[in-house]
Amino acid sequence: MDPLESPPESPPDSDLFLREDEPADGAAGAEPWLVLVVDDDEQVHAMTRVLLGDFRFEDRPFAMISAFSAAEARAILAERPDVPVMLLDVVMEAQDSGLELVHHIRRDLGNQRIRIILRTGQPGQAPERDVIIAYDINDYKAKSELTSQKLFTSLVGALRAWRDIATIEQLNQSLERRVAERTAELARQQAQAEEQRRFVEHLIEMMPSPVWYEDAQGRRVLSNRAFRDLFPQAPAQDGAQDTESEAGTVPIGQGRWVPAMDPSSTVFETSVTAPGGFTRELLVVRKALPTEEGSPQGSIGIATDITARRLMERELHRLAITDALSGVHNRRHLLGILAGAVADVASGAAAGADPCSLVMLDIDHFKRINDEHGHAAGDRTIEFVAAEIREHLRGTDSIGRIGGEEFAILLPGAALKAAGAIAERIRAGIAASPIPLPDGRFHPTTASFGVTELRPGQDSVEAVLHRADEALYRAKANGRNRIEFN
Ligand code: GH3
Ligand code: MG
Ligand code: MG
Repeated sequence: MDPLESPPESPPDSDLFLREDEPADGAAGAEPWLVLVVDDDEQVHAMTRVLLGDFRFEDRPFAMISAFSAAEARAILAERPDVPVMLLDVVMEAQDSGLELVHHIRRDLGNQRIRIILRTGQPGQAPERDVIIAYDINDYKAKSELTSQKLFTSLVGALRAWRDIATIEQLNQSLERRVAERTAELARQQAQAEEQRRFVEHLIEMMPSPVWYEDAQGRRVLSNRAFRDLFPQAPAQDGAQDTESEAGTVPIGQGRWVPAMDPSSTVFETSVTAPGGFTRELLVVRKALPTEEGSPQGSIGIATDITARRLMERELHRLAITDALSGVHNRRHLLGILAGAVADVASGAAAGADPCSLVMLDIDHFKRINDEHGHAAGDRTIEFVAAEIREHLRGTDSIGRIGGEEFAILLPGAALKAAGAIAERIRAGIAASPIPLPDGRFHPTTASFGVTELRPGQDSVEAVLHRADEALYRAKANGRNRIEFN
């Protein structure tokens, strides 16, 4: 056909639909049930058309598509896989054209849905039973049998079956789609979990603090780089392959317990020997991990290296209790020690506690050193006197600078007489050692001493200081470079 003569609104394959009947009653809207009639006998088409014109099923009319040969039917079905039912002649261009067509529909086109009703002219052309089964033929009628009623019954039965199959196919498809969606969703979740796991692993590995995980038996099953750096001797391979040995046990025991805010965690301070023999002080937090019901509980540990902090704290403490110029205790700290000793002697009175004495000394004519040689010479003198005093003390004795050029010495275990002997040695030592001054000269120095013993019972820091001060005053008054007792 010349394409120019073709009506513009006609689709290119419109010839396939040319034989499709209008709905018998012309009712608009309701889509007709399509019935493909395949027969080489014109009369069969005409008769069927008349019969179909009367039929309605579920408020839908019937429409007929005609094919006069198996070849024509093939072409139509290739385009219209949605045709629900076919009335098929057996003998057409060839003896078995009908059966061949069925074969083609089921096997080549893969169309298992279309319902096929065989119609033959002669009883001799009836298909064998095994052919009916093998070719999935759904009904068989002799042409003479096809009264309006029987045709209607056959078609309605076929349409219902077709619709059931369609429904099942649809259900199958949606089921398959849902399975595919669910599978994809699970894969997505798995990938997400995997990514989270990797993130956590990297995070733990990168953390500057040692982190590890122990199973219920206390074996280390996971640790990070900071942990391995601290304990290179620990088995390189985490995990408890060798359950009999202590191989995976974390080499951090318990230490000084620290109260924890969270009752499910244990916090303690401990020290470990790090590579190179350095002692590292650690603050360790151990927390039991929540577990599935019944399964044994592991715990996670994280250690913070507090070595530098502890060093700084100790240094700050030292600075807080030390006199910067002389290196001995400062006034406040020495008085604190004295208060402890006063309390000890007082409380130990009945039990006959050890004696304890306080010596107070003041450099003689110190003002002159400052005046004649400068303030630096005065400072130098204070340093030297403190060093001289230290020479004569035991580890249990305490010395503090309690004023400008005034020192107090606490002598536990020393009664008044023994304290006097120690004071005498210090006095003689100072008197015998002229101070080397910054200008290269030497300056002879002496000091005066007041000694008192702590008293059991009602003694106090103020009373002890007062007694020692009073004795010292007497030593000054009696000519300096001497010792007085109170
Ligand atoms: P006395 O024999 O009676 O003890 O006489 P003194 O000169 O030693 O006593 P005084 O109390 O008259 O003078 C003490 C001086 O010590 C006064 C003060 O300026 C000086 N001084 C106090 N603290 C320091 C210090 O840390 N360094 C120096 N260089 N001088 C100090
Ligand atoms: Mg003085
Ligand atoms: Mg003084």
